[in-house]
Amino acid sequence: MMEKNKTTENKGIDLKEFFGLLCDSRNWKTSFEHLILKARKDLIFDNLVIYQTDFETGSLEVVYAKSTGRGRSAEADASWGDMLASRVLEENKLICEEPQQNNMENRLDSAYLLGIPLLAVENLPGVLVFIRFGGPSFCDEDLSHAHTLAGFTTLLLRQKILHETTAKIREIQASSQLQSDFINTISHELRSPLGFIKGYATTLLRTDTKWDQETQNEFLGIIERETNNLTDLIDDLLDSSRLQSGQMKFEFNPLRLDSLIRDEVTRIRLTNPTLKVELDFEGNIPAICGDARKLAQVFDNLLSNAVKYAPDTLIKISLSRQNDLLKIDFSDEGPGIPEVYLPRIFSRFFRVPEQSMKAHGSGLGLYICKQIIEKHEGTLSVSTSSSGTTFTIGLPINLAGMPGIKIKEIENGG
Ligand code: ADP
Repeated sequence: MMEKNKTTENKGIDLKEFFGLLCDSRNWKTSFEHLILKARKDLIFDNLVIYQTDFETGSLEVVYAKSTGRGRSAEADASWGDMLASRVLEENKLICEEPQQNNMENRLDSAYLLGIPLLAVENLPGVLVFIRFGGPSFCDEDLSHAHTLAGFTTLLLRQKILHETTAKIREIQASSQLQSDFINTISHELRSPLGFIKGYATTLLRTDTKWDQETQNEFLGIIERETNNLTDLIDDLLDSSRLQSGQMKFEFNPLRLDSLIRDEVTRIRLTNPTLKVELDFEGNIPAICGDARKLAQVFDNLLSNAVKYAPDTLIKISLSRQNDLLKIDFSDEGPGIPEVYLPRIFSRFFRVPEQSMKAHGSGLGLYICKQIIEKHEGTLSVSTSSSGTTFTIGLPINLAGMPGIKIKEIENGG
């Protein structure tokens, strides 16, 4: 049988357990805490600090500091290791530092330090520093355990860097996706109405042709419609930028959603007289606190979307109470939204490619709706299938809890 090397035997850290931690190291600090809890069975220390070269500044930064007692604060004690960490990094080797004299009266004045280089990523080296106040000196066996812990730490740090890099890549991907959605939508939605306006205006201005009144009215009607599309686009752009910068003002007042929705349906019917809408409102719907104009904008957008993307289908709007929430479902029987696009449906400038040529839009409507609902501390979600789409809004009934509202008595009457 092979004889075990006593100095490298690892009592504390179990490999199987470590790989479990490594696989589940979304929160690398929690994994590291587990690791040092085990490591302390083999290696006694008061403080431990991990330094890592900062990607942007290139200087050594403390990414983790742990104080295991004696009334010290880990952050304050991190400074103990600063000088040693720089030396370890420079010389790229394990270094032990001991005080000239061991002050037996105040152990905190006698720091025994051990620093080990960490090579988590080639160009971002780090250092692991152990501190013992009042000794004893680090022996060979300690150094061996420190090496083992440094190896595990390196792997955890790599995992951390991997997670951070993945998150950054996702952010960059999302921002470049946003840019391309923006360019696609804006270029199309600006060009197309401008093209119509210019074309029909030029036609009307031609001196070599006379247009009868009916034709002139038809052309002017198209110019007016396309100008409205441009105005809507600019309004959406302004709203979205105000919402993003937090500059959109909200006026919260008690309001009744049933009458707000009824008014919106009546309004949209003026321009779409054949619209089929079925209302299913529970009796005795309590008032809520909200910004009536902004909520009307949400209902208007959802209704207009149903008109645009699910034309001539029955739109059902239900309003019910669920504990402390009012729940509103807007359903249509249109073609639905392909599942693959659902994660982006509330993103700015996103339009389902297959539908974007069929109707005008900025791809900002649902983003604006979601922001408005969230400003009311509510939720907006979507569910869809090939037989229709349902947008569900949840709004809290808590009247007194809304910002800037002082209400003594809430009336529930209709
Ligand atoms: P738009 O200005 O394009 O209408 P929205 O943000 O309101 O922007 O909607 C984003 C996209 O979601 C739309 O372009 C459309 O593709 C899709 N969509 C919205 N509502 C519906 C619906 N009721 N049925 C099918 N698709 C919808």
